[in-house]
Amino acid sequence: MRLVLLGPPGAGKGTQAQALAALWGIPQIASGDLLRAAVREDSELGREAAGYMECGHLVPDELVLKLIAERLQKKDARGGFILDGFPRNVMQAERLAVGLERVGLKLDKVVAVMLPDEEVVKRISGRRTCEDCAAMYHVVFEPPAKAGVCDKCGGELYQRADDAEETVRERIKVYEAATRPLLDHYGRLGLLAKVDGVGRTDEVEKRILAALDGLAIPSQAGAGVGLARS
Ligand code: AMP
Repeated sequence: MRLVLLGPPGAGKGTQAQALAALWGIPQIASGDLLRAAVREDSELGREAAGYMECGHLVPDELVLKLIAERLQKKDARGGFILDGFPRNVMQAERLAVGLERVGLKLDKVVAVMLPDEEVVKRISGRRTCEDCAAMYHVVFEPPAKAGVCDKCGGELYQRADDAEETVRERIKVYEAATRPLLDHYGRLGLLAKVDGVGRTDEVEKRILAALDGLAIPSQAGAGVGLARS
């Protein structure tokens, strides 16, 4: 399965991607997680990306494409993957398609998890992430057993700096301008399924599985994917 999860910030893409990745035994590849790791490592790429992330803007395509290409080359991605937060604009989508095509592959499906703006702000302000394993919680909808502590690994839960309300509003604007056009793009390619993101995590997961209807079988191993310019 080669799947892209689209949707506004806070739609639950990350939570759903984690659940589906565990179900199918394929990796969740989240561009935001890769970027945050680069920032934490204080790599050159991380230092370049940090300013954009802090104010809720998209990181330049070339930086993100480099990170994603490196990740897609890893052995565990050869049997399929779930992309979460990437692509974020049409340019990234086109580079992904070309990179896959070069090794005889294509996306199986793009699922857009839809959520109204007011719900986005409500969800994001309560969101907490584990510092160690990136598991996600919500203080109201999905609280950990012990406040501030990850159920899975005991790591400390933190609130992302870019989850502050003002930055969230900026991220919604960026989503509308840059990422929403991907719905039409993938719709034209016949790859898109829209799923209502309102409700419990397990309800949304069921909707996604229904939308995938019969597709949810891990893909055969393929060659590594490169996203270099042609
Ligand atoms: P996310 O964790 O997906 O919400 O991403 C957090 C931040 O990382 C975004 O607000 C962007 O600044 C940056 N980012 C993540 N994915 C991408 C991408 N595909 N293209 C550009 N910037 C990205």
